[in-house]
Amino acid sequence: MARVKALDRRVYERIAAGEVIERPANVVKELVENSLDAGARKVSTEIRGGGIELIRVRDDGAGMEREDALLAIQRYTTSKLEDLDDLEGLATLGFRGEALASIAAVSKMELVTKTREARTGTRIQVQGGEVISVDEVGATEGTAIEIRDLFYNVPARRRFMKGPGPEGARVTDAVLRLALTRRMVHFIHVVAGREVLNAPLASNLQDRAVAVLGRDVARYMIPIVDPDPDDPVDVSGLTGKPQLARPNKTQLFVSVNGRPVDAPEVSEAVKAAYGEILFRGRWPVAVVEVGVDPARVDVNVHPAKREVLFRDSELVERAVEEAIGSTLVNADLVTETAPRRTDVPLDVGAAPGEAEEDLPSFEPASGEPMTGSIQIDLAGGALEEDRLRAAVDIRPIVGESPGWDDLGHVPSWLVSLRPVGQIMDTYIVCEGEDAMYLIDQHALAERLTYESIKASAAHGRLKQQTVLEPIALHPTESQITRLETRRDALESLGFSFFNADDGTLYVKALPSMLGQKMTQEEVDVLLQDLLEGEASGTVSAKEEVIRSMACHLSIRAGQRLSPKQVVGLLRGMAGSTDPLACVHGRPTAIRVTKGELERMFKRTE
Ligand code: ADP
Ligand code: MG
Repeated sequence: MARVKALDRRVYERIAAGEVIERPANVVKELVENSLDAGARKVSTEIRGGGIELIRVRDDGAGMEREDALLAIQRYTTSKLEDLDDLEGLATLGFRGEALASIAAVSKMELVTKTREARTGTRIQVQGGEVISVDEVGATEGTAIEIRDLFYNVPARRRFMKGPGPEGARVTDAVLRLALTRRMVHFIHVVAGREVLNAPLASNLQDRAVAVLGRDVARYMIPIVDPDPDDPVDVSGLTGKPQLARPNKTQLFVSVNGRPVDAPEVSEAVKAAYGEILFRGRWPVAVVEVGVDPARVDVNVHPAKREVLFRDSELVERAVEEAIGSTLVNADLVTETAPRRTDVPLDVGAAPGEAEEDLPSFEPASGEPMTGSIQIDLAGGALEEDRLRAAVDIRPIVGESPGWDDLGHVPSWLVSLRPVGQIMDTYIVCEGEDAMYLIDQHALAERLTYESIKASAAHGRLKQQTVLEPIALHPTESQITRLETRRDALESLGFSFFNADDGTLYVKALPSMLGQKMTQEEVDVLLQDLLEGEASGTVSAKEEVIRSMACHLSIRAGQRLSPKQVVGLLRGMAGSTDPLACVHGRPTAIRVTKGELERMFKRTE
């Protein structure tokens, strides 16, 4: 009878273990959390083969006595559950009392542990949940656990593994998340013999972020300021400049009451706070720490994934969005040039690596002669003289100042701007405080026009203008389909159409701003665009129409600007809600700091 029961228990354990321990990353997380619970000041983790071959976690925490260690690898033992009320709180990282047993059941485990008081340490070897040996050994204070051949006895689970690369990446992600929440602990993480993290004790999150995310990311992160410190939800952490944005949310770290969690609502709220500053579909880089009354959250919705369920998630979402939103509003978000080729790309959208080939290099490759526009051959006579003159024509803007005084709140970097000239008929060059700014005239103009159309449309003030002679269009079948999906949007904005029996489509009226500012030909191009433009699927039809109108109404690249137009654009930035991103999320302005210039010219070396 007892024997049957024992067998049952072991089978059951293996199945149950699979629920808690899905993959190496869960194992590492559970073990590190135990180390943290044991008061470790230093935690070292190491994996090989994505953690399937080997996981090693070593800490300098309190350690365990022999009997306690033996108990710990049994199911449902824990030293942490004083009474049931504890379940409500989040005092310790784990409180289910089953992680160690579950891991032991599906691997070959060796545990070496020693308490401060004990003279010697204990080594326990377990295989598939069976204790194989218990020895007295010499050991330093703390606990070291080695896991080999994870899931060797659960083939179904093992087949589920994605291979060393992806599994290892998940492990690293889990370690980074923990390291970001516990900056008073020294974390070291080694993958296949290579140290990928060494984060010594840090007195503030910024320093920890440098160690975990790298200097090149951390330098573009802004401390989150909670505008409402007294409300029930505290929000703190760091949030990245839009230029760091990534195609996924792997660099969006969320913790609740000090524990890393999966909280999709929080991630969405963070993204929402960025609004249109981000390129469509991009995610910001952020370390967001949410603090709420523990009674308001459920942590163990899923035993392995550590999702959280907020009792009042709307409250949390609102607090997060507000905190990050107000942080961004008050922050200086100008895209800055990256110091090295391997650094964050200038392109606001691209993830590091993606756009590496397109990255502008500011440093002439050593040894190569400088080429390009600077070299002018003066031997060629008159023609060359013209070319020379063209080369020095930097179209200076003289005597014009934006005059910010009447504009209310203007960010300080913007106040310091002095337009210097226009180059390539496309960019406006400005000098600011200890920095040079390059502004993309079309991107900025489009953003400003977009905002003004949107504001007018919101107040129902888009005036309509009847066209004297209706514009006749001859749309194809697919254009008609496209038009129908946009028709309501177009009409709400002031367009009016008439379908004639012969298939001709007449435009009878337009928003008057189009009629006033565009030639007949330009209007035709816009209409074609509206008939043909791809539906993006992520924004509403009305939004698409407004963006398209903004694009067609705005100053283009390749257009020579008058000093007045330049000044008008700069003043527009002061009144804009998102002056730094065009409607497609590309940056409108790029800053090259004086320090950066000095570095490029090797003045600082
Ligand atoms: P839980 O963490 O939920 O208590 P575990 O199975 O993860 O359950 O651990 C069981 C017990 O083993 C813990 O309560 C703790 O007493 C002990 N333990 C586990 N890991 C360590 C460690 N690294 N250092 C000290 N004690 C540990
Ligand atoms: Mg635990």
